[in-house]
Amino acid sequence: MSKETLGFQAEVKQLLQLMIHSLYSNKEIFLRELISNASDACDKLRFEAINHGDLYEGDGDLNIRLSFDKDARTVTIADNGIGMTRDEVIANIGTIARSGTKEFFSKLSGDAAKDSHLIGQFGVGFYSAFIVADKVTLTTRRAGVAADQAVRWESGGEGDFTLEDVTKAGRGTEIVLHLKEGEDEFLDDWRLRSIIRKYSDHISLPILMAKQPGYDKDGNIEPAEGEEAVNQANALWTRNKSEITDEQYQEFYKHVSHDFDEPLAWSHARIEGRQEYTELLYIPKRAPFDLYERDRRHGVKLYVKRVFIMEDAEKLMPQYLRFVRGVIDSADLPLNVSREILQASREVETIKSGCVKKVLGVLEDLAENKPEDYKTFWTEFGKVLKEGAGEDFANKERIAKLLRFASTHDDSTEQNVSLADYVGRLKAGQDKIYYITADTFAGAQHSPHLEIFRKKGIEVLLLSDRVDEWLTSSLTEFEGKPLQSVAKGELDLTAFEDEAEKQQQQAAVEEFKDVIEQLKSTLGDKVKDVRVTHRLTDSPACLVVENFDMSANLERLLKSAGQ
Ligand code: ADP
Ligand code: MG
Repeated sequence: MSKETLGFQAEVKQLLQLMIHSLYSNKEIFLRELISNASDACDKLRFEAINHGDLYEGDGDLNIRLSFDKDARTVTIADNGIGMTRDEVIANIGTIARSGTKEFFSKLSGDAAKDSHLIGQFGVGFYSAFIVADKVTLTTRRAGVAADQAVRWESGGEGDFTLEDVTKAGRGTEIVLHLKEGEDEFLDDWRLRSIIRKYSDHISLPILMAKQPGYDKDGNIEPAEGEEAVNQANALWTRNKSEITDEQYQEFYKHVSHDFDEPLAWSHARIEGRQEYTELLYIPKRAPFDLYERDRRHGVKLYVKRVFIMEDAEKLMPQYLRFVRGVIDSADLPLNVSREILQASREVETIKSGCVKKVLGVLEDLAENKPEDYKTFWTEFGKVLKEGAGEDFANKERIAKLLRFASTHDDSTEQNVSLADYVGRLKAGQDKIYYITADTFAGAQHSPHLEIFRKKGIEVLLLSDRVDEWLTSSLTEFEGKPLQSVAKGELDLTAFEDEAEKQQQQAAVEEFKDVIEQLKSTLGDKVKDVRVTHRLTDSPACLVVENFDMSANLERLLKSAGQ
């Protein structure tokens, strides 16, 4: 096929504008993004080559090359990774990844700093090339495909791109950036090297640049030949903790998670025991847009002896920790491990449960020592963590301690009360943890069921997240104190009553005997029972359900789900 011109997906142009606008102040990150992609491409090749060694085409030395040409004003990034076919180029480079486009644009706030973190999530790192380039030429050949089956993609980032069949001897991808006017700072060896050291030192492959001429002891220029690696070129997680700076941990996070933001916290450990593995796991600062979607894009990456095996190995993290990013590198799993094998593997169970404990440890540490960070975490991921109380029986207690709720203690919408806080404030004689569930916070806060509790000064947890119904059905006690809905069954608050109140209530039961009988016969089988209550102080009546019946809120939820 000869050269053809294709249009970008309509939104791409808008995206490019946004990208340039919000990232310009930190424009050098284009290099980080392109190197990150090159590294991923090499990981993919190494993985496919486990079963198809000929994909290496006799060259198993994977690397990334960076060069520049002062006269042509170009910077070139080349890799000998997996490469792309024509169809893959169209699918990956001409579009915004997958279905996310609409959400992407609906989430934009116009605030550059806030918007920039969205860019990585939507798999559009490649476009950062247009921050500094007014033309990008990408030439690629997929490993194992004939040399004359390569393809060249070129675009000025203005709405369309061209595609052309070309010949490329080496496999992999080469990207030439034609720099914009005024971006000549990147035509500088020292500048490029320092960007690599700053952002891409953690990349496990060598990033090669031409050796620079030096001076001999007499001060004469000594010409240099060949190339040298600019980065350390070993996998970050295999290094000693003491040799890794926070900045390196953070940059590695951006690479594995495709996030443009810093992580909130991380855990890094080498485990030697029944299973030998290394984990480097991160808690992000912000929830990705697809946290509740089935085909989420990123997760924990699995490596076996430093060879990338798979992305989003969902078997390595339980659902309720699906926001965790990072790598697990096993020394024992076979290289040809498949998703099916992972599914049934005892070894994987061991690794998973070890990693879950590490993540819970990180969260406990945040909760205890960095309350502001824990607040950020809870706001973003609290609803997901709540799923854990039902999902992870073995760690239920630890999860319960990490939960935070809104409560009548300060009546704020903010979920900042732990069960331990609640228990610490129990009234004398109180042996239950009271809560109410409702569709909305206001619904919970203004429920007539709370009247008596407010009057007696007994704290009630105000639960209005969708997941709270499931949470309270699986978490039925905390430190020996049962969780009790204030909207269920007969409330026994006698411990908080004085003699006068008791007598008053007895009198009320007598007094309203006839009214109750009348109500019962009028309502017939629409209700199970009609009782005189002292749980209300202002409202005349309220509906309650029996202790073991579904709560009114759960019933509503099930109805709206069509059950
Ligand atoms: P992300 O890396 O988050 O997927 P990018 O915009 O950076 O998003 O890249 C989009 C896609 O383009 C990648 O997922 C990959 O499929 C493809 N791609 C980009 N660079 C390369 C490369 N050097 N080699 C092979 N494929 C690449
Ligand atoms: Mg990328």
